Amino acid sequence: MPGSALPDHEETMSKIVIVGAGQAGSQCALSLRQMGFEGSITILGDESHLPYDRPPLSKAVLKSELEIERTVFRPAAVYADQGIELRTDCSVSGIDQAAKTLALSDGSHMGYETLIVATGARARSMPLSDAVLERSYFVRSWDESLALKAKLEAGPKDKPLVVIGGGFIGLEVAASARLMGWPVIIVEADQRLMGRAVHPRISELCLEKHRAEGARVELNTMSGDIEATADGVALTVNGERIEAAGLVIGIGALVNTDFLEGSSIYSDRGLVTDAAQRTSDPDIYAIGDVAICEDRYLASGVRLESVQNAIYGAKICAAAITGSAEPRLEAPWFWTDQYDYSLQMVGLYSPELTWIERDNGQGSVTLIGVDGDQIKAGQVINSAQDFAVMRRAVDMQLAVDAASLSDTSQKLKSLVLKK
Ligand SMILES: Cc1cc2nc3c(=O)[nH]c(=O)nc-3n(C[C@H](O)[C@H](O)[C@H](O)COP(=O)(O)OP(=O)(O)OC[C@H]3O[C@@H](n4cnc5c(N)ncnc54)[C@H](O)[C@@H]3O)c2cc1C
Repeated sequence: MPGSALPDHEETMSKIVIVGAGQAGSQCALSLRQMGFEGSITILGDESHLPYDRPPLSKAVLKSELEIERTVFRPAAVYADQGIELRTDCSVSGIDQAAKTLALSDGSHMGYETLIVATGARARSMPLSDAVLERSYFVRSWDESLALKAKLEAGPKDKPLVVIGGGFIGLEVAASARLMGWPVIIVEADQRLMGRAVHPRISELCLEKHRAEGARVELNTMSGDIEATADGVALTVNGERIEAAGLVIGIGALVNTDFLEGSSIYSDRGLVTDAAQRTSDPDIYAIGDVAICEDRYLASGVRLESVQNAIYGAKICAAAITGSAEPRLEAPWFWTDQYDYSLQMVGLYSPELTWIERDNGQGSVTLIGVDGDQIKAGQVINSAQDFAVMRRAVDMQLAVDAASLSDTSQKLKSLVLKK
């Protein structure tokens, strides 16, 4: 931002400005009010929609099980009633840290006293021609989900949909498309699905599930020579030339920090914060997908992309600003739905932990990651009950008799929550 322009509005000097009207930004604004902050709060969001829930975009919305309008967290009136100014279609393009002003895309400037960066991340792209990109789909935003949904509904389904990336979003989209009758090919560079986040046994079970549901899954594979055709794309997969109806690119995300370029806190890998979500600039906080908290129970120095992390970080930030009591300690947790598999995870996957498997039969599997007598992580397919136990054990740092955990003749609850 050129020069150090004065704020456009006088009152802006006593206000909190939140950049990013997503899960973390909207939660933080409401938490600030709940915790008694009486000053002015403005949320600036570059999308044209009210803050909305992203998880259904790759699942229920694609399959028409949920109308996209129902992903909106709260009606506009709730923000107005709380005295929160919510500006949509408003992109922040720069910052002057010394003057504590933001540059907005309409050319105006806005001052802040406290700035909260909640800009999330965007889908990572690939070096592809414009023609191929026109036939490619990303699933990060409302508009992107609707574009893919239109394609899935329109058909024809005579050629496969190719999903590049066997991570959570790619696999959820693949499952949704299969359930809508599409032939699907999943191309994953790694040797296993969701490799960075789940135990190899979970990768294996999910691979079997996707194949059993009729998807073709190619591991250890890079897609090559991708070019546009009259009605889709052609690409080479393991030496085979494939004509596809379209590409879904699910190869991870990049943080939205461009507007901070030139500032002392800028990073294209995520904004580092302390335990209170405060960056090295004491007037700037970062929350949600864009943040890397250096001091977080079981997830220090890790950039997490999850609903729980967005909500928890937002509450911690609001508590720090208002001087309120911190929310109860929570380990990171995450879920994904693929076909009839509901996979829930608490703590972070690490091969350093000792993993104990409990095959509960009837398609339900629980993996428990222990370090000595402490449960540090759990990954559960189709057992909400086991997951509730795991969350409690990890959050409360309960000591357990690890050797007993594989005994499936006893419920996990009775082995873990003995006292
Ligand atoms: C398809 C999909 C499925 C998911 N499924 C799950 C799941 O099953 N379970 C789970 O736990 N998590 C899931 N997640 C992750 C979860 O939705 C995110 O972790 C969460 O939305 C992060 O919240 P956030 O507020 O940090 O970012 P976001 O919700 O992405 O919000 C950031 C907002 O900031 C805006 N913005 C960016 N730059 C600017 C700027 N310069 N000026 C103004 N506004 C800006 C963005 O456009 C966006 O609206 C999923 C995510 C996606 C995309």
